[in-house]
Amino acid sequence: MSVARKNKTPAPKMADPLGALAESLWRPMGVEGVYGRTGAYEAIVEKLAAFISQARDPHAEIMRFPPVMSRRDLEKNGYLKSFPNLLGCVCALHGSEADIRAAAGRAEQGDDWTQALSSADLVLTPAACYPIYPIAAQRGPAPRGGYCFDVAADCFRHEPSQDIDRLQSFRMREYVCIGSADEVSAFRERWIERAKGMTETLGLPYSIAPASDPFFGRTGQMMAVAQIQQALKFELLIPVRAEDSPTACMSFNYHRDHFGVTWGLRDYTGDVAHTGCIAFGMDRLAVALFRTHGIDPQTWPAKVKEALSL
Ligand code: 5GP
Ligand code: ZN
Repeated sequence: MSVARKNKTPAPKMADPLGALAESLWRPMGVEGVYGRTGAYEAIVEKLAAFISQARDPHAEIMRFPPVMSRRDLEKNGYLKSFPNLLGCVCALHGSEADIRAAAGRAEQGDDWTQALSSADLVLTPAACYPIYPIAAQRGPAPRGGYCFDVAADCFRHEPSQDIDRLQSFRMREYVCIGSADEVSAFRERWIERAKGMTETLGLPYSIAPASDPFFGRTGQMMAVAQIQQALKFELLIPVRAEDSPTACMSFNYHRDHFGVTWGLRDYTGDVAHTGCIAFGMDRLAVALFRTHGIDPQTWPAKVKEALSL
């Protein structure tokens, strides 16, 4: 379809380097934290994905998930207890033809048609690893060494923002381990070291720090404190928006037996399995590359270009 463009892309605001970056890489879609992505940006996301694939454990099984998942499964995972504020739920118009026409007609009259919506069986996937646990559970106990999966999904979290590093819709790639406590701990340790090396190869300044998830409400604050005390989450932080407040671009998570108990996962000894995941924020990492090395990938350091096959 060819549509005449009424408005030219606005000129980058040079006073704000991050604004200029976003304006050259993305196109606004009328909602905060949701952008159309240019070919130049996507080319780097694709190269980054290939770079992450090169580091994959040889026995990892690849699964790619859609941007939606079973509402029931996410409820079972306890998401509504921990992050109800972040969840996006798919709604649809249900009922007879007359019901649906009446609801859609309200929109034409400028009335609120959304009152007629009711929830479907789907939610927007909030993290790439959630759908893998019920799939793995159907296979029986994990082998010695554990199951290892390479998963990815377009993820949604309802946190509208104008910040370049906080999107409502973003891509997440994860490596997931399901096995004994020792196997999962070793997996996470190994990946923290591997991720440091990968970040150095990409020429990105970073630090690793203990972290917590943004659990909801006052009880959530207690859960966050416990998560830090038990060293269940680490993040790899890269300065993107501000030097003194670096952005989490990867996370290294140990869930203990949470998903094992929920889904009846077993390790090779028959005990409840433990799980862990290594998450790569594809959009944050891509933005970090442009922010650090400049808007034109051809001018990036030779070592970085080689690593990304640019
Ligand atoms: P986590 O599950 O640890 O919160 O998120 C995993 C990774 O997804 C983060 O380390 C980050 O790279 C990415 N991520 C989380 N939230 C956002 C967000 O709001 N915007 C973007 N672009 N990436 C995010
Ligand atoms: Zn995960």
